[in-house]
This record gives sequence, structure tokens and C-alpha cells, in this order.
Amino acid sequence: MQWQVPLFDPDLGETEVQAVADVIRSKWLTMGDRTTEFEHRFAEFCGTRHAIALNSCTAALHLSLAAAGVSPGDDVLLPSLTFVATANAIRYCGARPVFADVASLDEWNVSRDTLESVVTPKTRALIVVHYAGYPCRMDDISAFARERGLSVIEDVAHAPGATLAGRAMGSWGDAGCFSFFSNKNMTTGEGGMVTTNRDDLAARIRLLRSHGMTTQTLDRHKGHAFAYDVVALGYNFRMSEFNAALGLCQLNRLRGLNEKRREIGSWYRHRLQGIRGVAVPFGHSVGGPAFHIFPVLLPAGTDRAAVMERMKAVGIQTSIHYRPVDTFTAYVEAGLGPRKHLTLTHDIGNRALTLPLYPAMSKAQVELVCSSLARSLEL
Ligand SMILES: *Cc1c(COP(=O)(O)O)cnc(C)c1O
Repeated sequence: MQWQVPLFDPDLGETEVQAVADVIRSKWLTMGDRTTEFEHRFAEFCGTRHAIALNSCTAALHLSLAAAGVSPGDDVLLPSLTFVATANAIRYCGARPVFADVASLDEWNVSRDTLESVVTPKTRALIVVHYAGYPCRMDDISAFARERGLSVIEDVAHAPGATLAGRAMGSWGDAGCFSFFSNKNMTTGEGGMVTTNRDDLAARIRLLRSHGMTTQTLDRHKGHAFAYDVVALGYNFRMSEFNAALGLCQLNRLRGLNEKRREIGSWYRHRLQGIRGVAVPFGHSVGGPAFHIFPVLLPAGTDRAAVMERMKAVGIQTSIHYRPVDTFTAYVEAGLGPRKHLTLTHDIGNRALTLPLYPAMSKAQVELVCSSLARSLEL
């Protein structure tokens, strides 16, 4: 399908082509100097003591929870309005996901109140998702977690470069988990990162990322070590040098790309005011968002599938973020859903529509999307 306006369009250029070619010429293809440099630069960008590169955000969530000690018998709080990987990571650790509702029809993030209303005696940790790049109210949520002795994991997949009170998202919790999948604000194809200020978590995640081995291939290659022990049941969640080389290029441009997203978002907000019944969430957002996606709330009772079909017919790609995790078959069959108390989440799940958003989008394309949406709603 040739889209007039695709949902997303990664910003990749000759710099990236050159960077990947350089990796091939270097003949060192995984977890080498580029990965180390990417980690240093990312930690600096977020203002954290550590950044650990992995092959996905899913792996980052899994290892952050494991390193925080989440294990069978524990409960972990999280939103249901998220990508399924957030919840899956909890289940990989043998723990139970406990879903919290979003704060309101305007604020599609969990809040201290919605977390507090589902907390259980077995709760060990909570995961926040900075939905669409809009920061959660971390001051309130961190205070709640401190009072209860809970670990806080941030799912920052939508929010690289977002800030709250001058601090980067990903530096507020015990760990921040980033994604560099193809449709994210910065991409390495596949890839992820954990940021943390805790030395113990960083060491544990580094160990688990590569089979629980005490030394790395690069250390042995450089003659720093000759043997290794295996001291934990680890995984292979390593990042390749191709991903790291792309990540370095993209990180250089992230602020500029996010600024373009912000500008396009403001065109959308302005234009959509003229379309009856369509609400744009996060009218009262806090901090400096990263504008990952542009979701709107359609009028109740709208035939959303028909709207998407009509927009597709004129070459405009749309999507839904998200079908609530507690409604998926695998979650229902595991006895984890559906959860009736998630009233707002389920309402949003039925009415949300994600419009195209990417840095190269023109004002004319925004106009095309909005006029097509208005027409599709009238039919
Ligand atoms: C994309 C995404 C993930 C998973 O990221 P991967 O790098 O593909 O594993 C997790 N959580 C959220 C909110 C996401 O959008």
C-alpha cells in the first residue's frame, strides 16, 4: 500500500548509512566500542549514572524488574493502556500484572490515585508508561512508591527526551526502559536501553544481559581477561554494533526531531478545534513531552473501523493505541482480564484513534489528515 500520509516515517539519512558501513569495515559487530559510547552518551543525555544497551525495550523491562527482585508471588502495578510488552515483562518474572486505570479522559496516564486504588499487600513494584510522550506526574507517584516501599520502573518507550521539572524521563524511577524500535522517536531498527542511578541494578542488568557471564567477549579480545564464570541464569539481550552506530546518529538529532514533532502537534491541536466532537487528550500536560504519537478521542458511538477505512481510501494511515491489555485473549485466558474497574481505559480503548505524526510531516499533510477525518465523521 502506497500511503499519501503514513502513520510514521523514520528519519534516516546518509549519516546512518555511513555509520553502518563503518561497522562492517571494522569487523567488530556486537557489543564493542560503539555500544559503550552509545551507553555513555545516553546516560549523559538522561542525566543518570548508568545506561545499559539491550536488544529491545521488552528486554529492558524484563531485566529491570528481575534486577529489582520481582519474582513469583509478587504483584506489579501498571496501566492497561499500553503496549502488551509492558505487561508481558511482569509475567516473564513469574509475577502478576495488576492493572490501574488512567487518570481521566484528558490524561491518559496512571496517577497516584488510580495506582493507590488497586494496590495489594503483595505489590512489589509499579511500572508507569509516559503515554504518547506525556510525562506521568512522577512527584506524586514517587511519593506513593516511597511510602509503600515499591520499586518504580518507567516505560519510556514513547518519551525519550521528555522532561518533568527539568529532569529527564527515565531518571525518575529506579530504572527507565527505552525502545529504539522502527516507529519510535529515535530508532536503531530493534534496540533498547535501561537508565538507572543505582549501581546494584546496573551491575545485575549487565550480568543478565549476556548469559550471566562474568567477562565479555570484548574484554577477552583486548586481553583484559582469559576466562569467565557463569554466576546467574542470564539471557542473550545484547545490542549489536549496527544498532549502537545508528543510535549514536539518532541521539544527535533527537532534540531537533522532537521539536519538529512538537510543532506538528500544535498544528494538529489548532486545526482539530474546528472539528466537532473530536477531543485531543493531554490538554493539561505537565513538563516537556516528547510527542511520540498523536491520539484523538472520537465521539462516543462512532464507527471507528469505518472512519479508519475511509481515511485509508484516501491514502491516510491511522492506528489504535491501544486495545487495553486486559482484554487480550492471552490475558483473559490467564485469568488477568477483562477488568471491569478500568472504565476510562476501556472507553478510550473503544474511541481512540492515532493520526499520522513524524518529523518530516508538512502543514499541508496535517490539513489533509484533519479534513479527511472531518469528512469521514460526517458520513
Ligand atoms: C514499543 C513499546 C515497547 C516495546 O519496545 P520493543 O523495543 O519493541 O521491545 C514497550 N512499551 C511501550 C509503551 C512501547 O510503545
